[in-house]
Amino acid sequence: MRLVVFGRQGAGKGTQSARLAAHFDAPHISTGDMLREAAAAGTPIGLEAKGYMDAGRLLPDEVMLGVVEERLAQPDVLEHGFLLDGFPRTLGQAEALLGITEVDVAVNLEVPEEVVIERISSRRVCKGCGRIYSVAEPPSTNWTCDTCGGEVVQRPDDTSDAVAARLATYQAETIPAVHWFDTKGLLVTVDGVGTPDEVAERLIAAVEARLAERR
Ligand SMILES: [Zn+2]
Repeated sequence: MRLVVFGRQGAGKGTQSARLAAHFDAPHISTGDMLREAAAAGTPIGLEAKGYMDAGRLLPDEVMLGVVEERLAQPDVLEHGFLLDGFPRTLGQAEALLGITEVDVAVNLEVPEEVVIERISSRRVCKGCGRIYSVAEPPSTNWTCDTCGGEVVQRPDDTSDAVAARLATYQAETIPAVHWFDTKGLLVTVDGVGTPDEVAERLIAAVEARLAERR
């Protein structure tokens, strides 16, 4: 199983990617997590990635492709396939990916912009332990974490201006890659609004239906 998952920030892409990967027994490759781990470990690629991320920029395509190509050559991928989460992010990366491997299905987890803006801008996070709250479901006393007593705040990245900027980048850079997979006949679009269980069921059914068509 070789899967690519697309979705706007706040669409639940990370959660659903993990569930899909578990269902299809394929390694979940989150390029964001890989880069953060590499940066924390201080590897050359990690330090280069950190420079770009700290400046709020996307890594150059050739750097990202090198990272992904190396990961796709690992034994677990050769045996079980992969689920790519966070790559490709641009049309250039999409074209390059199909130059190094085949892809069975590209999933587009569709959640409207206004829904993700509402989800993210109402999110609040404990500075101590990272527990997630929301304006609708705050801690029981005065924005103090129920778990650790830490201060519960809005992250600077979660303000509606910051979210709008990232959504505009997604629209300009990533949507062309999504459309490109559609022109290849590889795209399945799934409604991502609902509980995590509902969305996971929908996703698995849609991917299985597409695989059955292709057999
Ligand atoms: Zn806490």
